[in-house]
Amino acid sequence: MEYEVVIGLEVHVELLTKSKLFCCCPNRFVAEPNINTCPGCLGFPGVLPQLNSEAVRHALTASLALNCEIALYSYFDRKNYFYPDIPKGYQLSQFFVPIGSKGFLIIEDDNGKPKTVRIGRVHMEEDAGKLVHAISGNTSLVDYNRAGVPLIEIVTEPDLRSPGESRRYLEQLKGILQYTRVSDCKMEEGSLRCDANVSLRPMGCPDLGSKTELKNMNSFKAVEKSLEHEIKRQRDILRSGKEVITQTLRWDEGSQATIVMRGKLQAHDYRCFTDPELAPIELTEEDVEKARAALPEMADVRAARYVNEYDLPEYDAGVLTSSHGLADYFESCLELYNNPKVTSNWIIGEFTAQLNSTGLEPDQCSFQPKDLVELLLMIDQKLISGKIAKDVLAKAFQRGTSPRLVVEEEGLLQISDQSELEKVIVKVISENPDSVENYRGGKAKSLGFLVGQVMKETEGKANPRLVNELLLKIIGS
Ligand SMILES: [Zn+2]
Repeated sequence: MEYEVVIGLEVHVELLTKSKLFCCCPNRFVAEPNINTCPGCLGFPGVLPQLNSEAVRHALTASLALNCEIALYSYFDRKNYFYPDIPKGYQLSQFFVPIGSKGFLIIEDDNGKPKTVRIGRVHMEEDAGKLVHAISGNTSLVDYNRAGVPLIEIVTEPDLRSPGESRRYLEQLKGILQYTRVSDCKMEEGSLRCDANVSLRPMGCPDLGSKTELKNMNSFKAVEKSLEHEIKRQRDILRSGKEVITQTLRWDEGSQATIVMRGKLQAHDYRCFTDPELAPIELTEEDVEKARAALPEMADVRAARYVNEYDLPEYDAGVLTSSHGLADYFESCLELYNNPKVTSNWIIGEFTAQLNSTGLEPDQCSFQPKDLVELLLMIDQKLISGKIAKDVLAKAFQRGTSPRLVVEEEGLLQISDQSELEKVIVKVISENPDSVENYRGGKAKSLGFLVGQVMKETEGKANPRLVNELLLKIIGS
């Protein structure tokens, strides 16, 4: 029998706020445990929570960017469970009324056609602490730095049909959350986490099959792999006539397999009720319209503009707008240098290579748009060749100095002095009489060889056009 794959994703995203959701502790990733804590987020009795308005603004922005309807009146509920990572004994979450609902994202399906993925809800909640299991012995430690950090949870309807669609949904979601500056979405630091609900059903059957929940996937690649693994596992079970058990599974990166964590809790197990200590969140239509008007230009719109306005190929526009940081960098360069295609080539090529090798974001590196423009102007003014410019960019990037300084310190200025070049050319000619003869005998290629020898002799600093000209003048006569 053929089966249809049904996937729904739940994504937790840490919001980029200065402080936690209900106290003034800093919301910052630090290595040292329990530094960012206070009696509030440690769950001491008698401490009253106070809602962070910056977190509400971010949640509103994300909901609007995901095409959601906004609840003007919402509140927080207590989700009760007992576990050491949650010091109060309950998690504050928007269980009954999420701030955003009925949204959607349009992605590409596996055939490259547009497909709408419905987003059921976007709600706010506080993060839990983190258990640290000792390598030896049977103790576990708790780090509460993360307890109370503001999150939004974004839940899709079961609309995804393959691991590939799931990955594309996540990539698009991440792009939107970064573009709106709601989150930095760093999966490796846990600021974007994804759980997946997976089930199979006979092709054409309207009912959903028993599902399993997958957790602990630390990269988009891991999401895709674990989904593939789980789909195969469920298909094998169903084909052998058995039933899939509803449970929570953990993806194990080492063995590339899923491991059973626990039977899945049902919503009623949490005994949710509205928190009596927090005031409700009341938004006005005006608040919503203001947030909507402040939404930035999204990646796809920006890419289309680059194609129309700057005449860039779609490929360039896609790469440049793949991160808002890179797109901002590109536009800052254009304010100083009016050649979009050349600027794009250098950003996509050498600049991105440096970012990748250092792991820096465009706004974190000291090689700023004015530095790239300085480099491009030096090429235009024929002070350096394009080839040397690549080295200069790498050195300026790594040293944090201006490209001009690198050129001056290393004596890389292009040689355009005729008499100096003539000396080198005469030397090259005397050392390569055969090539000169060949050229005179009609072998045009030999000229290229001679130019190459002059470039080598000058360590790439000669102006190639001038070398060509002078060579012709000397051996052509
Ligand atoms: Zn605190």
